[in-house]
Amino acid sequence: IDVYGAPVLGEHEQWLGIVIVSHDITELKRLEQIRKDFVANVSHELRTPVTSIKGFTETLLEGAYKDPATAFSFLEIIEKESNRLEMLIKDLLELSKVEQAGFRVDAVPTNMKNLIERVGEMVERRLEEKNIQLKLQLEPVIVQGDPNRLVQVMMNLLVNAISYSTSRTAITVRLYQQDGEAVIEVEDQGIGIEASEIGRLFERFYRVDRARSRNSGGTGLGLSIVKHLIEAHHGNVKVESEVGVGTTFTIHLPLAS
Ligand code: ADP
Repeated sequence: IDVYGAPVLGEHEQWLGIVIVSHDITELKRLEQIRKDFVANVSHELRTPVTSIKGFTETLLEGAYKDPATAFSFLEIIEKESNRLEMLIKDLLELSKVEQAGFRVDAVPTNMKNLIERVGEMVERRLEEKNIQLKLQLEPVIVQGDPNRLVQVMMNLLVNAISYSTSRTAITVRLYQQDGEAVIEVEDQGIGIEASEIGRLFERFYRVDRARSRNSGGTGLGLSIVKHLIEAHHGNVKVESEVGVGTTFTIHLPLAS
């Protein structure tokens, strides 16, 4: 607690009393800590690929370029790390945009069934690579939403479902109407998430398994962006999971008015 005291004097400088102001700064301290952690995380996440790019470039310049096979594999790493940097910067800018107090989505009546089918096509190659079957159980539902933002949300959830699933499993996406709302479920048969981790899942840069997530190409920002986007739609997103069984993300969105 922050306490501040000051004497109160009258017209003729006579002592009238004392004013004490006390602020509970626990919440402020907590927010300050979150901000500091975020800056530390950003710095670390940016530094890692830059260090790798610099290291491989220097080694190439020092002579490794003379061996074509070595040069090729180093260049591949440099390309991969550059892509990673680009994605990180893109997600950081996106997050800072959706976190702004005044952030609004352009919500219009949107054919959600259509939108999910399109996103399904966008992830076709990734599905094939892992031999994962995508099952769509979609009712015709029209939501009040921003189509580009909803594509982003569905992409994030589907790419995660694929990344955190093993080969030859299935992902089911359901779309239906319930109690005057649209419901979207993305269910995978992947690695699952410990109950103790679920509460922190939507935090910026939170990852259950750092190394695995990084290898899968994620930035650790996807779910924070999803949460902000869905809340900007006046909806909500929840997750249920069981380790070794799978994970289901459930989104509620308003129907088109
Ligand atoms: P990332 O870019 O690391 O995937 P996200 O914000 O999208 O970041 O997700 C945060 C973390 O939540 C991931 O690192 C992963 O540990 C976990 N996660 C997300 N989706 C799933 C899923 N479908 N199954 C298991 N774990 C998941």
